[in-house]
Amino acid sequence: MRYCRFLSEDGLQYGQIETVAGTEQITHLMPVDTAGLPDVHRARKTETRALSSATLHAPVAPSKIVCVGRNYLDHAKELGNDAPAEPLLFLKPPSSIVGTNQAILRPRISERVDFEGELAVVIKKTCRNLSSNADVRDFIFGYTCANDVTARDLQKKDSQWTRAKGFDTFCPMGPIVSNEIDPWHGVTVETRVNGVVKQSGSTSQFIFPLDAVIRYISNIMTLEPGDVICTGTPAGVGPLVAGDTVEVSIQGLGTLANPVQDH
Ligand code: ZN
Repeated sequence: MRYCRFLSEDGLQYGQIETVAGTEQITHLMPVDTAGLPDVHRARKTETRALSSATLHAPVAPSKIVCVGRNYLDHAKELGNDAPAEPLLFLKPPSSIVGTNQAILRPRISERVDFEGELAVVIKKTCRNLSSNADVRDFIFGYTCANDVTARDLQKKDSQWTRAKGFDTFCPMGPIVSNEIDPWHGVTVETRVNGVVKQSGSTSQFIFPLDAVIRYISNIMTLEPGDVICTGTPAGVGPLVAGDTVEVSIQGLGTLANPVQDH
């Protein structure tokens, strides 16, 4: 199942996406269920429209965004760090979320704002205290592309990363959510700036696989339906300047594209 959140005549709606005659179309509208997630079982047919012509918003509305730092060895090394012994976690506020095509705003107090293309996991149901052999797939609603935008100079200055990671617009996500990919099998996460490839990694290179990450987080905090986990970024991070367009593409999830502006 694949879905987006788009602006319709009736406001923001969740739309189910199907491939019709070779193009991606929004074919059904999905109401929100009691957990706040789009309800595929109550999807109703709508006038079909092309996904490419829809005004998309971020497809998620989490209570929190939990991020894993340094989950690819090459990226840990490029910033002069060793592989962590345990998953390194931090939070981004939901207020940092923007959708595809919305601008990333570079704050005036930072001189170095970096992209970090990442696979993001959307949680399906309440997830707490998972045991070491629990099947985490039951708790996954789907996946989307994320950009863990980071003020690198402020990250180096502060021992806590809340400021560096938490500015408004610092968490682009989208364009769609899908449960039709398999990160265990390895999916490619690619980031481009102005069309030039900067990052290309596979989820098969995670230091801590998804199972370990979700179980680890669930033993610290309760994951609620709709919560998002950003799984870390491959090597190749670099700066963004006003006028750039940054794109994160993941096989099966499409491309999250954001222009960059000075605030
Ligand atoms: Zn990151």
